[in-house]
Amino acid sequence: MQFHKKDNLNVEHINAGPAIYIVSTPIGNLDDLTYRAHNVLKSVDGILAENPRHSSRLLSHYGIVTPMRQYHDHNEKKITEKIINEVIEKDLVVALISDAGTPLISDPGYTLIQQASLRHIPVFPVPGACALITALSISDLPTNRFVFEGFLPSNEGARKSRLDGLLKEERTVVFYEAPHRILALLDSIADVLGSYRSVVVARELTKLYESIYRGTVSDAKKHLVSHPEVVRGEFVVVLGGTKTSTSDTELEEVLRVLLASVDLKLATELCCKLTGSKRNLVYKLAIGLREKN
Ligand code: SAM
Repeated sequence: MQFHKKDNLNVEHINAGPAIYIVSTPIGNLDDLTYRAHNVLKSVDGILAENPRHSSRLLSHYGIVTPMRQYHDHNEKKITEKIINEVIEKDLVVALISDAGTPLISDPGYTLIQQASLRHIPVFPVPGACALITALSISDLPTNRFVFEGFLPSNEGARKSRLDGLLKEERTVVFYEAPHRILALLDSIADVLGSYRSVVVARELTKLYESIYRGTVSDAKKHLVSHPEVVRGEFVVVLGGTKTSTSDTELEEVLRVLLASVDLKLATELCCKLTGSKRNLVYKLAIGLREKN
């Protein structure tokens, strides 16, 4: 698909190219396209879409007839230079969109921005929906500081080693995950970071079957296993950060109270639940206390 300069291009303050707009699109509910995104997509000379077939549903919903061309991960490097040359030569204004949400957030576009910046082509953001921000906004976990981890590796060893790096992370952590790996992700989080951490599993946000599960990592896993019908669709996992405020001395105080009433196993379990601390550490402290007494 060739892009051609429109005669009466009137995209916001830009009357002439070359320029690139990075346009966010809905993550489910088509009504979440912003007014500005609508105007830009309608007005530009061409749209670079991760998957034109997928995006044609959105465009036809809004009666937008701007030509689209594919731009995805597999051909990103190969066609970027060609696109940048064409944008400069024909003085084009183009928009980049992904299948859903904000381009470049676990989506193609990085090479395009890099090349555009090297060739001094202005790049304009048109913000809108993004699954990670949407999930954080309803998560009930601290949002003042957070880390986005995107998709973890599908290989268990590699996934756990990435999680190892988050052992001391105090900030809220956000993951993206596919339905066929959501249980494996929760298992790995439980193994490496502890099963009592608070987690929010946000599924199918803004869509018909939207569901939000809030609880501990082990409870979230149990919930999904006992409701296989919800192990479908798209997931964002928002995980509470580690609580470094509980010192060993504080943990020992909690354990002392618990060990006076319940056995070592239950005391360890309750202490982990109360403090969000790792089981290995709590268990070691509990053994130490028992030996002292
Ligand atoms: N660029 C997108 C954004 O701004 O969020 C993300 C694209 S990434 C390839 C797709 C992943 O985002 C999904 O596997 C899922 O983890 C998450 N995601 C996208 N839409 C979602 C939705 N409606 N509900 C929950 N998660 C979603």
